[in-house]
Amino acid sequence: IKRDPNQPEFQEAAFTVLDTLKPVLEKHPEYVKNNILGSLVEPERAIQFRVPWQDDEGNFHINRGFRVQFNSAIGPYKGGLRLHPSVNLSIVKFLGFEQILKNSLTGLPIGGGKGGSDFNPKGKSDSEIMRFCQSFMTELQKFIGPDLDVPAGDIGVGGREIGYLFGQYKRLNGFQGGILTGKGLQYGGSLARTEATGFGLIYFLNALIKDQKDTLKGKTVKISGAGNVAIYALQKAQENGAKVVTVSDSNGYVYDPNGIDLATVKQIKEVERGRIKEYADKISTAEYHEGSVWDLDINYDIALPCATQNEINEDQAKLMVKDGAKYIAEGANMPSNTDAIAVYKQNDIIYGPAKAANAGGVAVSALEMSQNSERLSWTFDDVDKQLKDIMEDIYQKIADADAEYGLNKDYQAGANIAGFEKVAKAMLAQGLV
Ligand code: NDP
Repeated sequence: IKRDPNQPEFQEAAFTVLDTLKPVLEKHPEYVKNNILGSLVEPERAIQFRVPWQDDEGNFHINRGFRVQFNSAIGPYKGGLRLHPSVNLSIVKFLGFEQILKNSLTGLPIGGGKGGSDFNPKGKSDSEIMRFCQSFMTELQKFIGPDLDVPAGDIGVGGREIGYLFGQYKRLNGFQGGILTGKGLQYGGSLARTEATGFGLIYFLNALIKDQKDTLKGKTVKISGAGNVAIYALQKAQENGAKVVTVSDSNGYVYDPNGIDLATVKQIKEVERGRIKEYADKISTAEYHEGSVWDLDINYDIALPCATQNEINEDQAKLMVKDGAKYIAEGANMPSNTDAIAVYKQNDIIYGPAKAANAGGVAVSALEMSQNSERLSWTFDDVDKQLKDIMEDIYQKIADADAEYGLNKDYQAGANIAGFEKVAKAMLAQGLV
């Protein structure tokens, strides 16, 4: 890991995981002897490619595309594609690394990978998005396959982008349903995939809270983000009787003490593709503020960061403690930096880490792959029920690791250990590869 000093996000993710694995390594010296950790932190393959595309005015642009195929010990590489100007090799490697253990936790046969581009989809027309996606897939298609590597969405990649990516793949290789997940329902997508990460987050949170002899009902919740994960976390939290008082985007946040109105958020973000600021124009009880929602000083019980990595720092974690928050469950990947996590642990905030809490999306993606293989479509209730079972099972695996290794409710360590053990056993069985 030290070979990559210019990859801070990857280093942060990898060192954090390795720190928590010490008890497993003491129990299993064979993992050390066979240098399983050395293999784990080195991607099997990291692909970088040029993505040329033309804007509506005829100007030529060059972006950088990535796909990191991190680990295939337990199944084909699986993980999303991110379109955001911040995307670089460090970010894709951090996400791919986390994905290995997350996918293992789901109990499904999927390895870890991630990809994306530094293309900024904001403000682009539909045709520009389509041309970019077609160009991106023209290169990516050389490296993926239904039993090899199955990408999905992430920040900046939703149903529209998956459609354009799928169309281009099909044009070059013929219809192969299992090549991408998050597809439209008309061409092999799964019901409940759109809702999966947000719903899954709340199923996980419910299992965690129940184990503390507490309930989500009546709790005040802060959510960050207003994208795919945030919207469906909001919906499911409300269905469980919680009051969600914030949502945000990268410019600012809205605070609505009466509780955020789901239909208004969906209208702004999913239909109009607008900014969250517009919520305050439509709902009179809401206030809009520029800046981070984690600087808003109000009393609340539960934090659900659903925007992006490193959105919560040490001071913001301290504010969370002061404001009386008792639980944090991460919808986004690595939203809390290392210092923030230390604050949670020192102050007994119960912490549900991303790789467990947000695994619902990839879990339903794997169920989409199963449906594609079977050439069948399952009902919403069927998929949703399986999602709920998987999230409860993930919580149970973590709680079991917590008990086995005496971790004292350190669910971050529990998730890393439970995810790692399956991958390590598979790697050991397959020899030096
Ligand atoms: P979307 O693109 O749908 O939404 C992202 C949201 O986060 C937007 O509101 C966006 O605001 C905000 N955001 C993005 N970057 C920043 C930033 N630098 N600072 C503040 N806010 C920011 O993405 P998703 O909802 O799909 O993903 C959100 C998080 O969840 C990511 O960390 C992703 O990796 C993770 N995740 C997603 C899964 C999925 O199934 N979609 C599965 C598992 C994890 P703006 O519009 O201003 O950019």
